[in-house]
Amino acid sequence: MSSNVMSGNSFPNRTTLQFLGAAETVTGSKYLLSVGKRRILIDFGMFQGPKKLRDRNWERFPFDPASISDVLLTHAHMDHVGLLPRLVREGFRGPVLCTPGTAQLAEIVLRDGAKIQEQDAEDANKHGYSKHRPALPLYSTEDVEATLPLLVPIPYDEDIDLDDGIVARYTRAAHILGAASITVWTEHSSIAFSGDIGSREHPVLRPREAPPGAPFALIESTYGDRDHPDEDGRPHEGFADIIRRTIERGGSVLVPAFAVDRTEVILKTLSDFRRADRIPYVPVYIDSPMANAALRVYLSMPEEMRSDMHPEDFLEFPGLHPIRSVEESKELTESSRRTPSIIIAASGMATGGRVVHHLEAMLPDAKNSVVLTGYQAIGTRGRLLAEGIDKLKMRGKYIHVNAEIYSDQGFSVHGDRSDLIEWLGELEPQPRTVFCIHGEVGAAHALANLIEETYPRIDAVVPTHGEVIVLEDLAAAAMKPITTRTIERHVKTSARATGKPSPSVAPTAAAAAETVTGYQLLVGKTPQALSEQVEAALGDGFVPFGAPSVGVAEEAAVYLQAVVRRQTD
Ligand SMILES: [Zn+2]
Repeated sequence: MSSNVMSGNSFPNRTTLQFLGAAETVTGSKYLLSVGKRRILIDFGMFQGPKKLRDRNWERFPFDPASISDVLLTHAHMDHVGLLPRLVREGFRGPVLCTPGTAQLAEIVLRDGAKIQEQDAEDANKHGYSKHRPALPLYSTEDVEATLPLLVPIPYDEDIDLDDGIVARYTRAAHILGAASITVWTEHSSIAFSGDIGSREHPVLRPREAPPGAPFALIESTYGDRDHPDEDGRPHEGFADIIRRTIERGGSVLVPAFAVDRTEVILKTLSDFRRADRIPYVPVYIDSPMANAALRVYLSMPEEMRSDMHPEDFLEFPGLHPIRSVEESKELTESSRRTPSIIIAASGMATGGRVVHHLEAMLPDAKNSVVLTGYQAIGTRGRLLAEGIDKLKMRGKYIHVNAEIYSDQGFSVHGDRSDLIEWLGELEPQPRTVFCIHGEVGAAHALANLIEETYPRIDAVVPTHGEVIVLEDLAAAAMKPITTRTIERHVKTSARATGKPSPSVAPTAAAAAETVTGYQLLVGKTPQALSEQVEAALGDGFVPFGAPSVGVAEEAAVYLQAVVRRQTD
């Protein structure tokens, strides 16, 4: 290959960012920030939804996990933390920096994630409905236990020194407990990661704050193409109404809910309904060990709650019952046929968890209703129900959907497009380039267009999966905070993961390391020069990875770049 083909490592002082997830899709958030030799990941989430996306969770990492120095987490949702145990199993041993709320919730979320993975693999083997024999979990409980000691809680609003001139600051994002936007400064640049952004008003949590701005910013775009409906004087009236109707006809209401945050917000809403006498008295069950555990974390952090919020607001129910064992849960399915009740169960998109057996039992009966309370990713059971499907496949069987289905759009803890535009407007300094991530293609492009209309000096881009950007801005280095806090972020040996290989290991760390050299960053001053580079690489057995992009310094485009990788299969 010609000598001017460069790999990513030949930019010793450059800061680059690679989009490894949540690019043109909502889930799988993960970004690789390379600063000279340092490799830092921002989030390491799981892809969810259609099989084609979920299959990415099993792909080889395009880097050696042992070469990653730190992981910075924005929050504890599965699509932001869910793949960490696989990273640890394959050799990552550095600190995972996150807020105290995120550390506590991540523990709950990851343990639950491993159980679901193990259960799914076991069910698939028992019933033979997977084409993999034997079906393996993506990671095990053992992998999660090796991951948890790496979590390092750090405070909001402090400048954290990560060595090598790299500084990070976490700012409240009011999405779920512990959620943060993260601004990172390097010697040559700075970049703001929005994480998931809540609405201006979270029903339970302290409001979000504006993080320090940067010349480059990533902004989520889940609702980049719409505004949430305006709630008049009677918030969630549709939800209250369907509860009244269902109870009246002797049915029960099933509320699939994300165990973390959504359950708290729904409890607060039901508690408000009861106090205003908007719904009759009925028993309310929280049928999710994970939701009950998350509720305890919320109750233990009153400093993160809204100033007008009291812990008892969650628990103002004479009839509130936590359900613990699976046996209790199955009894509940039976008793809800006789006694009208409200059942809150995870998971929120009905992709797994106890909500599945409640759906199987409740969907065929027209007396019942199902209230969807959050974002439903394409391909999930929740999305199919929201779209009015008449038969739903569950555990290998088709179930008739006769129950009434209602989507309450007012529960999202993602900001709508007005919130996103407002968040961006508060960044100081204003970014010059904004990457719209964490949205389906249409929503991401709609937000990019709206950003450019609203802020004509900003370039808004929708990055593609695998794309690499050179983040170059000498002015940004001067704005780096001067006072920083050095934290003990080196994981103690005793707390380290054992590194013992688990039987379910797919690629080994050694195999993953080998793929690092399989990637090449190609650059050219002109499209002609770049395409010559790419053609030469294709001739050498490489295939394109992601879309070509532009490297910029100051205001000017300095070169075009493309990433190629060795063909592996
Ligand atoms: Zn989230």
